[in-house]
Amino acid sequence: MRSKTEAIIISSMNLGEADKLVTFFSLDRGMQKGVAKNARKSFRRFGAGLESFTYCRLHLHEREHQDLLRIESADILTQASAICDDLQRAAVGAVILELVRELAPPGERNATAFLLLANVLQLLNRGEEPVFLLRVFEIRFLSLLGYQPKLDHCLSCGRQSAGEMVFHGMKGGVLCSDCMVSSGDPQVRISPGAIGFYYQALRMDMDKICRLKPSAAIMQELDRTFSDHTFHILGKRLKSTEFLRSVCSI
Ligand SMILES: [Zn+2]
Repeated sequence: MRSKTEAIIISSMNLGEADKLVTFFSLDRGMQKGVAKNARKSFRRFGAGLESFTYCRLHLHEREHQDLLRIESADILTQASAICDDLQRAAVGAVILELVRELAPPGERNATAFLLLANVLQLLNRGEEPVFLLRVFEIRFLSLLGYQPKLDHCLSCGRQSAGEMVFHGMKGGVLCSDCMVSSGDPQVRISPGAIGFYYQALRMDMDKICRLKPSAAIMQELDRTFSDHTFHILGKRLKSTEFLRSVCSI
């Protein structure tokens, strides 16, 4: 069966002599993999359409009893070449794509998450502040996938967040100063300013999101909070975060 879908290329790797194995996040089908036959030789059918970050229309051929789709050709809709021109933008882009690859369930349509990814990559390509965009993306993407941390009330006593709270990664929420118990491990503290920014970034129109100007301290608190949160969801650290930390101080 032949079909086409809008997709964002997450990664592509060489397969055999001339093919490519492509992982993409699509509007209609969520995360999928496909083989592009002869992709390294046929510029006419693929061009640069299978490069990471590219927003394209993929022409697909699906065969029964075969897990992998066949990608017949790719039309580029938006190229994101400026992302790779800058080390910090490329590093942030790599974390965004890894979050999608690790968290999005294969074959499950999530049009809102797809549009969020397309939107954030476009802003990144346009030169908006990379680390800010990463924070916005992880806040909204995790929520759309059902992993929204609970930051507005204490998990234990239910009191509304006020003053400094402590993030509890295993439970995916915060504890107030009365309920937090020191285990001796370093605690991820989160201020009212960071919690306020979190809910603004979650609810604000994407068109206006770049008007938010959080402080560096708020960005760092949310970095620690989400790094702990994703670690507990995935059971591991994202590989690309290490590279990001080596190219900028977050
Ligand atoms: Zn409490």
